[in-house]
Amino acid sequence: MNRYSWFVLEHYAKKAGAIIVCPRCRTNEMRAADPAAVQTAYGMATNAWERGAIGTDSREEAVRFMKRVLKDAKLRCPVCLV
Ligand SMILES: [Zn+2]
Repeated sequence: MNRYSWFVLEHYAKKAGAIIVCPRCRTNEMRAADPAAVQTAYGMATNAWERGAIGTDSREEAVRFMKRVLKDAKLRCPVCLV
């Protein structure tokens, strides 16, 4: 996955609400504990792939990359620990 694909997937992860800004400090990003948002993020990754916005060979790979983007986000804010 190149930097651009990562950027696009991260954008959709945020748009889907799967990656959010910490509600307390409003500075650090973290993963939302929201399975519905994660599903939305996967759907957005699929749609983006269909439009050719993600440089992967398959839809499954696009979803796998979205998983990596979400896994890369912190589980909780490193400052507030919420
Ligand atoms: Zn915070």
